[in-house]
Amino acid sequence: MDTVFNCTQCGKCCHDLNIPLTIREAKDWLLRGDKIKILTEATPWINDVSSTDDLLLRKKSLTFPAKSGKLSIRVLASLVGYFQGKCPNLNSDLNCSIYNSRPLTCRIYPFEMNPNIILNPKNKLCPSDAWQSSESPRSSNTGYQIFTIDQDTQSNIKDIYTNNVDNVVAKLLICKELGISTSSLSNDGYLFHFPDQEKLLRILDNLISEDTPPTPDAEDHSQWIIYTQNEVSLSDLQAIGSNAARAHQLDTDSQEFISL
Ligand code: SF4
Ligand code: SF4
Repeated sequence: MDTVFNCTQCGKCCHDLNIPLTIREAKDWLLRGDKIKILTEATPWINDVSSTDDLLLRKKSLTFPAKSGKLSIRVLASLVGYFQGKCPNLNSDLNCSIYNSRPLTCRIYPFEMNPNIILNPKNKLCPSDAWQSSESPRSSNTGYQIFTIDQDTQSNIKDIYTNNVDNVVAKLLICKELGISTSSLSNDGYLFHFPDQEKLLRILDNLISEDTPPTPDAEDHSQWIIYTQNEVSLSDLQAIGSNAARAHQLDTDSQEFISL
C-alpha cells in the first residue's frame, strides 16, 4: 500500500528556504520586496544523449548549451526566492498570506519535482503524523516515486517542468544580461549569484512583456567558468579541457558557493 500524505499545517516548510520560482513568480516575489538569487549548475556534455536515456534527456531539456574552455557543457539556471527564518509571506497564524498565488514549488511540497528522485519522508520537514503509513520508502522498477500524489499536485509538478523547459532560453538571456558566466559542477556544489534586485526585476519585466518569447541561437555557446572545492573534480575537469577553478577564488560579495 502506498504511503498517504496529509499536511498537518505545521508551517515548518515555510522557514529557511530556497524556493525555485518561475519567471512570473520571481517577478511577483521581487515586487513584494522579497529577495531572489540565481543558481547555476553545469554538466559536462561530452557526447550528446541517446533518445532512450530519460535522465539525460530530462537534463538536456532543462539546460542551455555552453562551453567551459574546450569542454561542451549544459547549464541549468534557476531563479530562487530565499529567506532565513520565516517566509515573509507567512502570517503569525501560520497561514500563507499569498495562498491563492503561492509559488508552484510551495504547492507541491513535500513531493519531488523530479520524478527520478524517490520521495523519502526522512528528508522532509513534515512531522511523522503527516504520513499515514510508516513504511520506508520503496523503489519501484522504474525508480519513480510511488507515494500517493493527488491530481492537483501531479498537475503542478507537470507545470513546473513545462515552465522550466519553456524558459530555458529566457534563463540564458537573464544570465547574459546580469553578466553571469560562472557555475558550480552539478552534484558537486551550489553556486548562488546575488544580482542587483532592481535590475533583475527590469529584466524579468521585459521578458514577460515581450510578445514573442526569445528564440535560441544554436551558435551562441558562451564561455563559462566551473567552480569546485573538490581537488579531484578540478583536476578531472581541467584534464578534459574545462576552464575550471577553485571555488575559494570567488568574489564572495556577489556569489556564494556551497559544497555538497
Ligand atoms: S509563499 Fe506561502 S507557502 Fe510558500 S513558503 Fe512562503 S508562506 Fe509558505
Ligand atoms: S512541513 Fe509538511 S506537514 Fe508541515 S506545513 Fe509543510 S507540507 Fe504541511
